[in-house]
Amino acid sequence: MKPSYLIKPALDERYPEIDYGKGVFLFDKEGKKYLDAASGAVTANIGHGVPEIILAMHEQSKRVSFVYRSQFTSEAAEKLAEKLADALPGDLNWSFFVNSGSEATETALKIAIQYWQEKGIKSKTKILSRWISYHGITLGALSMSGHPGRRARFVPLLEEFPSISPPYCYRCPYQSTAPECGFLCAMELDGAIKRIGSDHIAGFIAEPVIGAAGGAITPPEGYYETIKKICDENNILFIADEVMTGFGRTGPMLASENWNIIPDIVALGKGMGAGYAPIAATVVSDHVMEPILHGSKSIMSGHTLSANPQSCAAALAVLEYLENNDILSDVESKSVYLKNKLDQLKKQFEFIGDVRGKGLLLGLEFVRMPGAKIPFERSMKLTELVVKAGRDQGILLYPAGAGLDGMSGDAVIISPPLTITKREIDELINLLKATFIEVYRILG
Ligand code: PLP
Repeated sequence: MKPSYLIKPALDERYPEIDYGKGVFLFDKEGKKYLDAASGAVTANIGHGVPEIILAMHEQSKRVSFVYRSQFTSEAAEKLAEKLADALPGDLNWSFFVNSGSEATETALKIAIQYWQEKGIKSKTKILSRWISYHGITLGALSMSGHPGRRARFVPLLEEFPSISPPYCYRCPYQSTAPECGFLCAMELDGAIKRIGSDHIAGFIAEPVIGAAGGAITPPEGYYETIKKICDENNILFIADEVMTGFGRTGPMLASENWNIIPDIVALGKGMGAGYAPIAATVVSDHVMEPILHGSKSIMSGHTLSANPQSCAAALAVLEYLENNDILSDVESKSVYLKNKLDQLKKQFEFIGDVRGKGLLLGLEFVRMPGAKIPFERSMKLTELVVKAGRDQGILLYPAGAGLDGMSGDAVIISPPLTITKREIDELINLLKATFIEVYRILG
């Protein structure tokens, strides 16, 4: 076998080689065009080849590409931190820059524990989380992740963090509907805290809209209010993992804002660098920083490439691009336009069991028997089939987990760049239709 780089999940599969990207499209070396309906992995939020970002990175690299964060700061890092503080709600004013979403959630975990230690409470070391979640691949982040498939190999090394059910209304574990259910899945948090003892729990982490693990599972109105109230009443920090949902993916800068929630700590990634540079951040509120600033005065975490000037310049340019072009104000109308068309497709292709999501983070769950919500046999690998058929038709979709265990069902995420036009959404729908016709043909 020819040696190759080891990033590909399937080492025996040959991926097309991409030549260039422009807007919502990617073009491979053979000239094939793909509509990037997933923004890669919900990352290329402003599309490909945006000259302003490329120029900002180039200008920064002409001045200096790297300074070590424990020796120097840079104008790009300072400006980015300042601008982020302005753009984020509440007193989320302190940014710790890292290079990936996993590092951002792992740092959030550490800061939450450190916060309580600096207040003199050493017993609060657990982070609670939900099943059907993904917070990253490093061991701390994976410990928090309710993703059985990604945990399986490493279970002996992981902490037992996931503890409560997700707000998965399509497959409600209580066979109820919101709000009549009284948010029983949120109330599980109260039960878990009582069982473990709040004096052992530093924080609770959740993705506002569940991404890779559940295919854009979106909570009902009232869910996050209940969660935040339980956290506050029990002295537990609320950590929002906005790695996928942040930077306007669902409309506002943070998806938490959709439900008027201001988290104590936020993890950002993906759309922050929008694929132009590896950058992520853990953003901490004033009230969480206070005991640290009056205590050890340092965060016990960090990476060699934290706050890399070129990555900071890219993220700053992305933030400016979002503002200068007023990108976020159009997300809701594009979402309604796209979601209506997906609802129409659901009527045509009955294997679409559920259309869900928020903003431009939408998901389709596929089922064999829509009435009974019975999934396909997992051995049929329907998600993989849909993604492959999509790629062949020239549309890129993001595979996601589904089912109450996050593994037994099939779903894809549809999350085009926020810059997509309505005409391009029409094109996306036509390609999706062609993909589903092909999948039906293969299924016979
Ligand atoms: N958190 C969420 C919600 C994610 O979706 C992801 C990645 O998919 C991560 C964390 C991990 O980010 P990364 O892959 O950049 O380490």
